[in-house]
Amino acid sequence: MSVSAVSSFRIASKNNTPPAQQPAPRDVEFSFNPQDKLVMEPGTVVVPGVRPDGTTSKFTLDEPLTAQDGKFVYSQDDHSFHAANAFAAANRMANMFEQAWGQPIKWARAERLTVHGDEGQDLNAYYDGEGLHFFHYPVGDKMVYSGDSGEVVGHECGHALLDAVRPGYFSTWNTDPGAFHESFGDVVALLGSLRDERTLNKVLEQTGGDLSQANSAAELGEELGTAINTVVGHDVTGGNFTRNAINQFTWQDPNTLPESGPPDQLHNEVHDFSRLWTGAFYDIFTGIVNQNMAAGQDARSAILAATDAGFKMYADLMRPGYAPEGEFTYRDMAAAMIKSENEQNGGKYTGLISQVMSDRKILPEGAGLVAHQVLESGTRSLATTLKGDQFGQFEGARVETLLSGSQANLLGDSSQAEQLSAQLARLIKAGEIKMTEPNQVVTTKDLFKKNGEPYRGVVRWVDGQMTIERVKIAG
Ligand SMILES: [Zn+2]
Repeated sequence: MSVSAVSSFRIASKNNTPPAQQPAPRDVEFSFNPQDKLVMEPGTVVVPGVRPDGTTSKFTLDEPLTAQDGKFVYSQDDHSFHAANAFAAANRMANMFEQAWGQPIKWARAERLTVHGDEGQDLNAYYDGEGLHFFHYPVGDKMVYSGDSGEVVGHECGHALLDAVRPGYFSTWNTDPGAFHESFGDVVALLGSLRDERTLNKVLEQTGGDLSQANSAAELGEELGTAINTVVGHDVTGGNFTRNAINQFTWQDPNTLPESGPPDQLHNEVHDFSRLWTGAFYDIFTGIVNQNMAAGQDARSAILAATDAGFKMYADLMRPGYAPEGEFTYRDMAAAMIKSENEQNGGKYTGLISQVMSDRKILPEGAGLVAHQVLESGTRSLATTLKGDQFGQFEGARVETLLSGSQANLLGDSSQAEQLSAQLARLIKAGEIKMTEPNQVVTTKDLFKKNGEPYRGVVRWVDGQMTIERVKIAG
């Protein structure tokens, strides 16, 4: 009782602060490109809740912008454009997910995330718990800014949103949780871009409402993907995009797949393997659009209503008791989706989800409707010490993971420890673990590989014991 008395006193005291000292946040117009300049010219968007210092309740900028006529709208040649676009796109995405979530989102590792609109020369973008980081890179005679793309910013903000509701995924080592993280970013970016009127108009022009046709929303990060292909010197992404939600991939055990290879095949690397889940989600999404149209809606209304259904499906999936909290397989996540759909949406799309997950071979044929029976909740930590020549310089390292759902319950500890060791052996072979010296000061820059992607793990020395920690960064 005394606690509540104290807190109500605090609230009362806050409310008594003279309003002059706390000017109300307001709606402010920002530069915003829902796609990128390869697809369309930038427009503007209104960001609600902008404080006089240019921050919102969720984001701040590394360098404050100077308003022009009360707006943060700039030409693309003005350097302020990059920060304005990234800040607007980040706020827009967080607000859309929060609306579906139904309560304020609390970031996993910071009260507010810092948006770094242009942090220097790199062909990259990432989320690291502190903020969202974007860069510039010369490609031919043009400069590519990763923060200029609403989709790329939406993807990075997706990492932050998923980290907020499922922080345990950054304590896992398997391909599936890492790949799901990547897919989550693409899925929310895709749903968000379709909520933009100009993007929706373009997609309607491109598809006539048949979303199985190629379109600018399904194709994610066009300018960044094109830049990557140009810099590498050949097509590594499969087209003029970073990834495409329209694909035909079916499930294969990621542990049997090579790390990398041609873009028309699936590989173990997390961005690569994410394409399977994104493709499955996109099939569900287009199925919802088609159902809406069959019920008499025009294509525009059908797509908009499906974005609502998509955000709701993902927000519901992340409520306690549904999506696993730690290690999982795509099969566990598909089962969680069906359980969530049955319990939180009256089973409206259960048939559709089951059919897609079976077609994609993520769930066994006909298993979808009963799959929720094997889903179990709860998490537990499991640690092991790497023993054997296959670990090379990492032999003797201690490593820990967070088990959840069927992973936590179906196998005994010795089998789990064996699986964890096998996964670490694979990551070490793939160059995904960063070695460090005892007493070495490890900087954020040290946590990135030469190709710009973050390492999955880094050696920390804890009381002289080599320990491999998960790197909590996603690119
Ligand atoms: Zn990512």
